[in-house]
Amino acid sequence: MQEAEPLKPYTTFKIGGPARYFARATSMEDFRKVLELAGTRSLPLFVLGGGSNILVSDRGYEGVVVHPACRGIETLNEDSEAVTLEVSAAETWDDLVCYAVERDWWGIENLSHIPGQAGAALVQNIGAYGLQVSDVVRSAQVMQISTGEVKVLSAADCGFGYRRSIFNTTARGQLIIVRLTLRLARHGNSKLDYPDVRTYFEEQGIKQPSLGEIRQAIISIRDRKFPFPREEKGGNAGSFFKNLSLLESEYQALREKFRHNFPPQDLERLEEIRNRFPTADRIMVPTAFLISICGLKGHRIGGAQVNETQPLVLLNQGGATAEDVIALARHVRRTVWTRTGVAIAIEPELVGFTKQELEHLYSFS
Ligand SMILES: Cc1cc2nc3c(=O)[nH]c(=O)nc-3n(C[C@H](O)[C@H](O)[C@H](O)COP(=O)(O)OP(=O)(O)OC[C@H]3O[C@@H](n4cnc5c(N)ncnc54)[C@H](O)[C@@H]3O)c2cc1C
Repeated sequence: MQEAEPLKPYTTFKIGGPARYFARATSMEDFRKVLELAGTRSLPLFVLGGGSNILVSDRGYEGVVVHPACRGIETLNEDSEAVTLEVSAAETWDDLVCYAVERDWWGIENLSHIPGQAGAALVQNIGAYGLQVSDVVRSAQVMQISTGEVKVLSAADCGFGYRRSIFNTTARGQLIIVRLTLRLARHGNSKLDYPDVRTYFEEQGIKQPSLGEIRQAIISIRDRKFPFPREEKGGNAGSFFKNLSLLESEYQALREKFRHNFPPQDLERLEEIRNRFPTADRIMVPTAFLISICGLKGHRIGGAQVNETQPLVLLNQGGATAEDVIALARHVRRTVWTRTGVAIAIEPELVGFTKQELEHLYSFS
């Protein structure tokens, strides 16, 4: 247990003040001890995985931060069709993808190069290029923060949806994911219909790519758009804003705003995009498109900047404070709201901010 441990190095944004207490947990016993400490001192508890989907305030976190450090991948069951794996929460997600691809097990290859821990992957139900982790999750072993009780949740219990689960909604801050089980297929069922992936393989002239080729394609596509956090290059937390999933009536309201506030070619592009990502009852609109046509690409406040190549990403260009990032996020939200009438949602968890700071960020006045 460390006191006043700086959190900045534990986050991919490379931003944030210290945690009052910080502990690594490698066993159930460790988790219980940390829960006890938080309980006896009446301090809030925060689970910090790879720190790739959070923004920590410049003041840090006035509570106990627990960092899962329990690793391991075990094969629970194998037959001619599939293999079931049990994975410890602190296993690095991308190492798990690599492990599966090397053994020719299908199901998570499109989720290559997403940073963070395997446990945290369930929290926002990570997704990319047409796959989500919920497609392969069978169960999660969790510890109740208030009691230390351990139970197993089925995939249905986890309440997965687009970038959501019970872990970031109804049971937010109540459970620690300790282990998960995944079922991967032995035979190829590749998902290559996402436009960037299709174009990549058309250009390469590959009709039936192997798992290794798919992983390589995803890494190459992603690296152009999402700067993978590396020590020397500032930082980011991936997409700072969520994409839009609109009802028909909401889409029509957006269309009206386009008719009034943007040139006709932008409305044409919106209609084209509408048809690009069809789902049964929702219309998916990439938030990056709205941010771009509002002229926000490259916009900078202090050390924080809207990424030019993928404007969903806010970059720490070196020395950015959490205050810079919040000011930039507020500017982006307000501009998009004024011009399109859409309130865009923030994806990373904002840690250690006051209620007033959050209200200011989310208000449009
Ligand atoms: C370059 C880059 C690209 C990215 N691309 C994608 C992408 O394509 N798709 C996508 O979905 N996401 C993406 N992300 C976001 C991020 O990588 C994922 O959300 C990832 O799963 C977060 O894992 P983490 O271990 O870093 O979690 P953290 O950032 O440490 O935590 C995120 C949340 O999960 C909670 N949490 C963490 N571990 C546990 C646990 N064991 N039990 C309970 N709660 C826990 C935390 O309390 C926090 O609320 C990207 C991020 C970056 C930096």
